[in-house]
Amino acid sequence: MDAVTTSDLEYHSIEVGRKRAIREALGLPTDPYSVKHSLRWTSPPVGNLPIENLLHSDPDPGKRFAWEDCPVEGYAGWRFPGQGEAYPTCGTFYIMGCLEHRPGYAKKVKNNCARAECPDDYRTWLLKATNKVVNRVTAGLPRAYSKAIHVTISPPVELWGRFGDKDSYMKMRRKAIKLAKKAGIVGGCLVFHPYRGNKKAGWRYAPHFHLLATGWVKDYEKLKGSLGGWLVKNHRVRKSIGGTAYYMLSHAGIKAGNNVVSWFGSMAWNKLVKDPEDPAEAPVCPVCGGELRKIAYLGEGDNPFSDPEGEGEGEIDCMWWSYV
Ligand SMILES: [Zn+2]
Ligand SMILES: [Zn+2]
Repeated sequence: MDAVTTSDLEYHSIEVGRKRAIREALGLPTDPYSVKHSLRWTSPPVGNLPIENLLHSDPDPGKRFAWEDCPVEGYAGWRFPGQGEAYPTCGTFYIMGCLEHRPGYAKKVKNNCARAECPDDYRTWLLKATNKVVNRVTAGLPRAYSKAIHVTISPPVELWGRFGDKDSYMKMRRKAIKLAKKAGIVGGCLVFHPYRGNKKAGWRYAPHFHLLATGWVKDYEKLKGSLGGWLVKNHRVRKSIGGTAYYMLSHAGIKAGNNVVSWFGSMAWNKLVKDPEDPAEAPVCPVCGGELRKIAYLGEGDNPFSDPEGEGEGEIDCMWWSYV
């Protein structure tokens, strides 16, 4: 194969085989879809563009890292779920009980912050967030588009540097929403993925947005001129909405001060009735049906529930316990 020369980068003058060779040389994907649309990812170069410039605009496309190394190797502080700091109480327990009868009743409850960044509790966040997305998307589907679609929106490589500080990230997110609407999407939620990859090959910085939405993506050929180099791809929903939402959220970019899920268009917060916050099911005493309250052990020796392997609930001698 011929060496790639700078003149090869003249816009529009390249046939598919050359495009593939150039992308190969740049370490970019060479599947038929990527090759076909590859030149939409870069602005039309004027004259001959030095190949170094193109490489420069791509922050090290070949650099891959392991999932757990993301906090160190990742881009601008973006992490995967569960890679932040736990609260000191996360993973510890407290006791709820009822002292209205003898014997009383007590139950061990785990402190669970349910935050996306918490190494102890992010799975709770993941399940709750998945549920919320499923409920809200399902509720927001109009009859005309009774099926949700799964769409990705990827910026051109020259914008990859704009996902670091909050202001420019927010601009990129607004831009993605604008393009989604232009493409025919009516409303939905969007989740930012800073990285692409998988467990085996590793991960690399390649920012893009996933949308679970309603509407339809217009024909790509009709759209491409108006997208400014961004790529809008309709994956439809291959699995259930739940499976798709779970996948989107499990790889989401997590960073302090950013909402993981944003809602827009017909599913924006102001357009839909707020989802009823799942009533924090007040724990109830199995003996009398009364509400359980926090209690503390005042007796001698160790709290009978302090053994981490010990029973989660049981009868207690009310003498040694008090409401907190
Ligand atoms: Zn936590
Ligand atoms: Zn009771």
